[in-house]
Amino acid sequence: MSGIDWRIYEAGHCTHPECATRRGAPLASIRYPALAFLLQHPQQGSILFDTGYSEHFLAATRHLPERLYRAVTPVHLRSDEPLQRQLARDGFAADTISRVVISHLHGDHIGGVRDFPGAALICSRAAWDDMHTRGRLGSLRRGLLPDLLPEDFLDRVSWIEDAPRCELPRSMADFGAGHDLLGDGSLLAVSLPGHAEGQYGLLFTAASGATTFLVADAAWSSQAIRDGVPPPGLVTRLLGDTKTYRDTLQRLHTLAHAAPAIRLLPSHCNEWRTA
Ligand SMILES: [Zn+2]
Repeated sequence: MSGIDWRIYEAGHCTHPECATRRGAPLASIRYPALAFLLQHPQQGSILFDTGYSEHFLAATRHLPERLYRAVTPVHLRSDEPLQRQLARDGFAADTISRVVISHLHGDHIGGVRDFPGAALICSRAAWDDMHTRGRLGSLRRGLLPDLLPEDFLDRVSWIEDAPRCELPRSMADFGAGHDLLGDGSLLAVSLPGHAEGQYGLLFTAASGATTFLVADAAWSSQAIRDGVPPPGLVTRLLGDTKTYRDTLQRLHTLAHAAPAIRLLPSHCNEWRTA
């Protein structure tokens, strides 16, 4: 089959001291876009990978204790930035989105899921199970806002772990097997553990012919992958597991240098405008 047309949307952004995302980087705060991706499959229609921030996110973090999320991570979202509005302007009405693939359950990735009520959802069962073992505060401490998921989530979801396992390209042997999400080999979920429970990236061949790997939050920036420099342990320990995070980042670093033709794209990297 032919490759997948795709485009990138910035659905709001947050600010962080750069040194919180890359060890040894400057202390000054910089903006981190919340990227969402529209993939147009030749047969399966329009598919989203993550949804960025949204007005649902702003509502869910309006009061304590959830307000702490925004105190730690200042979020900026213009009224024209929610993903479904940007898609509508480009001619993709919400009801034309067939599926939403969720990389992981942090609020900046599932903020807009409620805006696509007709879409099938694809998510990690491990991520879901983890979220439900935590109480409200335990979830919040890990960047999880369960209220952002729709009430009919379980009726609409299929689990990534249940999709058939498949081989990845030889250069990605370090990542184990993938999961063939659509059954035609066009969209492969790749486990990227460490940042959050059940995090998956998405691997596909773009219409341009380029192998493209959306790596979610396995790195905060392309530079972090190129240099193999993780965030401080304090940050990765807060959200996930530092050793596992660093192992995943090291595999991406190795891949970036061994297979430079593969385009690696983290969800919060500013380079997307220029790449
Ligand atoms: Zn994120």
